[in-house]
Amino acid sequence: MRAPHILALANQKGGVGKTTTAINLAAGLAAQGFSVLLIDLDPQGNASTGLGVGYDSRRLGSYALLTDDTASASLIQATEIPGLSIIAADTELAGAELELVAQDRREFCLRDAIARISGGFDVILVDCPPSLGLLTLNALVAATGVVVPLQCEFFALEGISQLVRTVDRVRRAFNGGLHVAGIVLTMYDRRNNLSELVAEDARGFFGAQVMDTLIPRNIRISEAQSHGRPAMAYDPKSSGAAAYQAMADELVTRLGLTSKKAIGA
Ligand code: ADP
Ligand code: MG
Repeated sequence: MRAPHILALANQKGGVGKTTTAINLAAGLAAQGFSVLLIDLDPQGNASTGLGVGYDSRRLGSYALLTDDTASASLIQATEIPGLSIIAADTELAGAELELVAQDRREFCLRDAIARISGGFDVILVDCPPSLGLLTLNALVAATGVVVPLQCEFFALEGISQLVRTVDRVRRAFNGGLHVAGIVLTMYDRRNNLSELVAEDARGFFGAQVMDTLIPRNIRISEAQSHGRPAMAYDPKSSGAAAYQAMADELVTRLGLTSKKAIGA
């Protein structure tokens, strides 16, 4: 069985579209026939809520995954999307950032845990919190690639050099294969010149690492989350759903994955 692609959704800024991208990219990959696991590593648990896992169903999740060697596949929950499973953020995850400091191999907790549970998944997405602390570090150490959402807003690129430096450091110290799988421009507004300027800036700095697909600002995307569903399930005809499906398709190409739909598997 091939090892899964493990993609960390990272950017230490909050509100840039990490969680939204995690949910909808996961659904887009599942729609391509891949078996996808989303690990919610943000104590806020927005990815869990956004995929219909409410607080009541979050007794054991990513905190147990990180801290309990015996916890395993039982932490994985099905979602209403065929092919898409989740390990939710449990309430104790908020303390993990501090507790992990005292743990053996503290940078490797997630990588070790994923090795125990990953059988059968083609892609694992890890939704990171808005910081570059130990949780995000664990995601980067476990990951094969990083997906960086950039919001088309003022100061979009501010702080990105810090993220890039962190990725470089993780690559040197812990994870030689780590690469930037894609930078995705989110909340793009065609009517606003600023979006165009941010896109130009990003392409100027990062070249081909910036994905061709632009994610538009689309109210259906955020409405879908409050209904606990990806945009594709909530309103498949919306521009947001189409854009995230296109992003998933582009990533499949970039990663050299073969669409399971295409080969009829
Ligand atoms: P992060 O995980 O980086 O903190 P989120 O994915 O939670 O960011 O997005 C922040 C807010 O913006 C959420 O309320 C989300 O619903 C909304 N949002 C994200 N992307 C879009 C979009 N393309 N169009 C409209 N709203 C969006
Ligand atoms: Mg988030």
